Amino acid sequence: MNAAMPEATWKLVPLGTNGYFPSFGRQTMSFLVLADRRALLLDAGTGVSRLIEPPVAQLVEPYEDLDVIVSHYHVDHVVGISYLPAVWPRGKVRILAPEPPLVDGDGPTAMRHLLGPPLFAKGFEAYGERFQLVRVREPELSWGSSLIRLWRQDHPGGSIGIRIGDRLAYVTDTSALPETIERVRGVRLLLHEIWWSDVEASGGVGAGHSAVSEVAEIAAKAAVGALMPVHHQPRRSWEDIEAMATVAAKRSGLPVWLPRETQVYTIE
Ligand SMILES: [Zn+2]
Ligand SMILES: [Zn+2]
Repeated sequence: MNAAMPEATWKLVPLGTNGYFPSFGRQTMSFLVLADRRALLLDAGTGVSRLIEPPVAQLVEPYEDLDVIVSHYHVDHVVGISYLPAVWPRGKVRILAPEPPLVDGDGPTAMRHLLGPPLFAKGFEAYGERFQLVRVREPELSWGSSLIRLWRQDHPGGSIGIRIGDRLAYVTDTSALPETIERVRGVRLLLHEIWWSDVEASGGVGAGHSAVSEVAEIAAKAAVGALMPVHHQPRRSWEDIEAMATVAAKRSGLPVWLPRETQVYTIE
């Protein structure tokens, strides 16, 4: 294949799909995207540890460098940054770290602390050129032949929604927002958090997370190709998650892909 030609098929591998903490064999949030000869992690929760598990380890072997973009700095999305020196032992690791106005606070500095004493044995500088921390405050950045669009969402401290070209969008740790519809319109695959059941949501639960029927409505109105529910509540069994997916499929009329960690999904 011509190196300049965009790849026809992208690969998505869920590495961690839980919110808050690991449970029932599920890790916390991280998704591997392989496209245009590049490797990208969306979030870096405990799922990052799966980069050394088959078949993921074999799949990533040809990739030299790794980009990581975090949606925000809650621990279920970033703790795996500290696993990267061991699980990505080659090439360069570029951490794309949002800062105000995309999210509140100095997250990039927190990331340096995550790879430095007393939280970690070595200091961030010990990795020299191999680990780069890139502060991101603009709503657009280019990635291979694709444009990545970022926007602020509704979550304590803020979080960013991420759209990569027209292939996929990643919307987690946010209330269900009407503006998401235009942001994700027409993508082949929408990864959207489903944290609350409709019954829980009707009980007046806290803001900052989304309920299943709200997400189904966003996905349907945005005419996405398929919906993948992510950021599962740790207390939910696989059967609970399947039941929520059934509701989402019925309400949206769309294909719903339930993410199995380490399974490879292709996005045409
Ligand atoms: Zn979370
Ligand atoms: Zn969060």
